[in-house]
Amino acid sequence: MSQYQELGVYINGEFRTACSNRVEKEVINPADESVLAYLPCVGQAELDEALHAAHVAFKKWKKTPALERSAILRKAGQLIRERAEDIARHITLDQGKPYAEAYAEVFSSADQAEWHAEECRRIYGRIIPPRNIDVRQMVVREPVGVCVAFTPWNFPFSQAIKKMVAAIGAGCTLILKGPEESPSAIVALAKVFHDAGLPKGVLNIVWGEPAQISSYLISSPLVSKVAFTGSVPVGKQLASLAGQHMKRMSMELGGHSPVIVFDDVDVAEVATMLARFKMRNAGQVCVSPSRFYVHERIQKQFTEVFADVMKNSKIGFGLDKDVTMGPMANARRVMAMEELVADACNNGAKVLTGGARVEAYSKGYYFAPTVVVDLPETSKLLTEEPFGPIAPIVPFSDVDSVIERANALPFGLASYVFTGAIKTAHYVSRELEAGMVNINHFNMGSPEIPFGGIKDSGMGSEGGTETFDSYLSTKYITEI
Ligand code: NAD
Repeated sequence: MSQYQELGVYINGEFRTACSNRVEKEVINPADESVLAYLPCVGQAELDEALHAAHVAFKKWKKTPALERSAILRKAGQLIRERAEDIARHITLDQGKPYAEAYAEVFSSADQAEWHAEECRRIYGRIIPPRNIDVRQMVVREPVGVCVAFTPWNFPFSQAIKKMVAAIGAGCTLILKGPEESPSAIVALAKVFHDAGLPKGVLNIVWGEPAQISSYLISSPLVSKVAFTGSVPVGKQLASLAGQHMKRMSMELGGHSPVIVFDDVDVAEVATMLARFKMRNAGQVCVSPSRFYVHERIQKQFTEVFADVMKNSKIGFGLDKDVTMGPMANARRVMAMEELVADACNNGAKVLTGGARVEAYSKGYYFAPTVVVDLPETSKLLTEEPFGPIAPIVPFSDVDSVIERANALPFGLASYVFTGAIKTAHYVSRELEAGMVNINHFNMGSPEIPFGGIKDSGMGSEGGTETFDSYLSTKYITEI
């Protein structure tokens, strides 16, 4: 096994370890703050090269039969499975999540490639019955052109591959800027597609200053579509830039997922399941359960079990055995957690467990799994996306008022309901303002599922039969 992924940019089918501007960014291991590698960053020359390569490649790729695009995606899936161990190890090093989570992220992403390999063979048009029998009216769907994508550090592999397989499967070409802090997964993906036989220029990978790269690429007349996964404020900035240049866009942004637990469930079972789910990727998940509304009759028992599971979890370096939660991905997140806890405490909240950095580690971005109770509805923990391992637990007594509280924020990504009553499940799932509603379990990871949010949480879906929608334009053709 290699120590760490060799890093570079990938332009027009070539890997390069040096760029014109000579700037390199340090890649830090969040477990001990050591420098893992230096990441070469592009200058304008490389961005222009990538744009040109993607533009030229599009002319051929859009005419490449779906069967051939499909074969490359299927081969990519196979290579991902073969390389999953090495790739996962590198993700644990530069992102921090436990190896088992990193492995699951990589291995299950092979499904994305394989499912899109099937789905891209079924991009159909339609015939519209004419008003005149001699007229023919057809609708065809065509790839939009060169796409640009900006992907985040929390799931560096799975967030990037979703955009790659949708663009490539639709017949588009792509320039992707991944997360500079956790870059190994993206370079590994470029190698996968290169080795799967993807023609040069169809996929290009660049690194650098996010704002400079995104504004340059989005403004280019050669670019037709923008895809972004990340925070709401950055998403809004990129969406307004895309709007100015009339570019298509899909946005997968933040959330603040409500969890509503009714009093007719197995309390210990649900509390245990939710506490474990909360700690996944140290809570740095856009669909992480983050506001816990628990029926007042079961709140005490629920909170005790939940806090117990959090307290007894093993926090440490993700390559060590039995670690349940690794460090946070960067120092910014630890500071954000400290601020959220301080704000809650200043407003009268009580911390039941955690609430601070893990004392056992003098280095690394470790924050203890945290449970906070007795906090007012206006505290930041209940209004701003925490993106970390903190669970605020508050009581409710009435179904309509809890739905109102769940819908009160501008977010609308995921939501969760736990109840034994089918009528309650049906009613709450209808009333919740969210792109995804999970009842009595969690299920949003597979490629056949349309993943996406409403309100400030974004627009467009990744996966599902909707997956190619924002990568295709509709053309009407009529003849007589
Ligand atoms: P951030 O808003 O600075 O950056 C978020 C992501 O956007 C990063 O990958 C960053 O490189 C990229 N980015 C930032 N400015 C950009 C620009 N002008 N153009 C293109 N890309 C740009 O925040 P952060 O500290 O890195 O992450 C914290 C917040 O980001 C969290 O609170 C969470 O809301 C959000 N986030 C969401 C997701 C998600 O899956 N929806 C993933 C990661 C982060």
